[in-house]
Amino acid sequence: MPYLRKKPRAIILDLDNTLYDYAPAHQAGLSALQNLFKAEFNLTAASFIRLYRRSRRLVKKRFGGTALSHSRLLYIKAAFDELRINQPRRILSFESAYWKAYFRQMKIYRDIPPFLALMKKNAIAVAIVSDLTLRIQLEKVIHLKVDRFIRLILTSEETGFEKPSLNNFRQACLMMDVPPRLTWVIGDDKARDLPAAIGIGAWPVIINRSLRRRRVFHPEFLEIDSFSELKEIFKEALLS
Ligand SMILES: [Mg+2]
Repeated sequence: MPYLRKKPRAIILDLDNTLYDYAPAHQAGLSALQNLFKAEFNLTAASFIRLYRRSRRLVKKRFGGTALSHSRLLYIKAAFDELRINQPRRILSFESAYWKAYFRQMKIYRDIPPFLALMKKNAIAVAIVSDLTLRIQLEKVIHLKVDRFIRLILTSEETGFEKPSLNNFRQACLMMDVPPRLTWVIGDDKARDLPAAIGIGAWPVIINRSLRRRRVFHPEFLEIDSFSELKEIFKEALLS
């Protein structure tokens, strides 16, 4: 197996669902919103979910493939518009409530800090390439306490490109001054992180925490069950 046998000079990390478990965080945010829509506008849980989905679909249709397509503020505003309610303060406080609940639930996977410390010790540059708006991604990086480990963060809001576009991955390599072939790209999404990593000629690693084995070498990428396993792979690469 030729790939991942050489020490990388840089790694590019995905953020959402790679550094922490996305579903419970998003669920906590949604529950907070649901409670607010019930308390303020007497919406049942089922009507809230329908309204949220419709608003989300509308925003995604308008802004598909851009950072705004993920904007919770736009989803909430669209929901208010559909209810024909114009309350700027509430729109903003509902958005804050979503993110407050989200951040309270968001916990970094415990095997990430030791992995990042190992990268730091070996002077490997670390970038985060992620789809969403810059402000919230910066807040996540701070909240997860990974800011001191990373050299670069690049979001789709800044570039106008979303995964699986190769653009942001290429740009991150350029900004770190490292060729893609000496870069490991690590993410959870086989439809978005993987084709981009292959496309720029980097080494793709898919983290799959429900994998039944610790590592599986596929023809074009490595699939592993944890960052502890990636630490082992990195140590093996150092020795070879
Ligand atoms: Mg992800």
